[in-house]
Amino acid sequence: MSHLVQPRLVNDPFGDPGLYLDVRFARRALLFDLGDLAPMAGRELMRVSHVFVSHAHLDHMAGFDRLLRTCLHRTAPLSLTGPPEFVDRIAHRLGGVTWNLLGPSSVDFRLHVFEFDGTRVTRAAEFRAREAFARRDVASPPFDAGVAHEEAGFLIASAALDHGTPSLAFALRERVRVNVRRMALDARGLPVGPWLNDAKAAVRQGRPDGERIAVPGVGEVTLGELREEVLREAPGQAVAYVTDAANTPGNRARIRAVANGVDLLYIEAPFLAADIEAATATRHLTAQAAGKIAREAGARQAVPFHFSGRAAERREDLVREFQAAFGGEDEAGRSGA
Ligand SMILES: [Zn+2]
Ligand SMILES: [Zn+2]
Repeated sequence: MSHLVQPRLVNDPFGDPGLYLDVRFARRALLFDLGDLAPMAGRELMRVSHVFVSHAHLDHMAGFDRLLRTCLHRTAPLSLTGPPEFVDRIAHRLGGVTWNLLGPSSVDFRLHVFEFDGTRVTRAAEFRAREAFARRDVASPPFDAGVAHEEAGFLIASAALDHGTPSLAFALRERVRVNVRRMALDARGLPVGPWLNDAKAAVRQGRPDGERIAVPGVGEVTLGELREEVLREAPGQAVAYVTDAANTPGNRARIRAVANGVDLLYIEAPFLAADIEAATATRHLTAQAAGKIAREAGARQAVPFHFSGRAAERREDLVREFQAAFGGEDEAGRSGA
């Protein structure tokens, strides 16, 4: 079965945070966080259409220059969404560069920058190459509460976690997945081709059965016929990304809500249980807390990352503590004792 996105961590778990979500079949990609992007190929970064930044600590933003430099001569815009004050921060980053070579004849690369306050997108600005990246405030998109971005096939849910500063958690939720039954397609003599994407989009949009879909070389079929035989609806893919959060009741509740029932949860697990004081002081989770939260959220699979250098020699212990808590072993052990 084909998934909407193929996620992968940009760096080793001890390196900077960042999750690359390859949107297969669409020749584009999303990024959660902008830490060091050194392992990424330029062609992979050229595909990035939307970036969602948890917060502006340097290990989550250090890759901004690389991404900007890579995309500077492309015509497709780059969208960046982050926590409160994010528009100012991007304006400052852009203001730190001399842009006198840009002008009316430059490729008009545009940055669309959005601030999500924990509930809604409350501020939006545009920065255009032809205007030497001067800030231009624009209207915020009217997304529902809890939604940081939305388009035809999926949305990005978000929540603000307490990390001493707001740190946004994100979840990509595909609306409805529409699978093609290849045998049924062949049996009807229908060819594979781009028309199937139009048909899938029509199903996702809930268009009526009577709607006619053009099939090149064949003619027309109705959406109802396709629904009955060829196209099958299934729950969409869901991938959540949670990092830099104190282990507080409020954070645990917000993580459970945003990551509820996801197929795959990437969650920070910086510290060993023995280093709980360091975790508390820096407002991070321990691996054990992260595993427990992942289990409580009902994530089907969970991947720990953002390991602290403090545990550099103890990678296996971090993973073991995380897995034990995710599997519920800590509590089983206690009740069995
Ligand atoms: Zn941080
Ligand atoms: Zn961090």
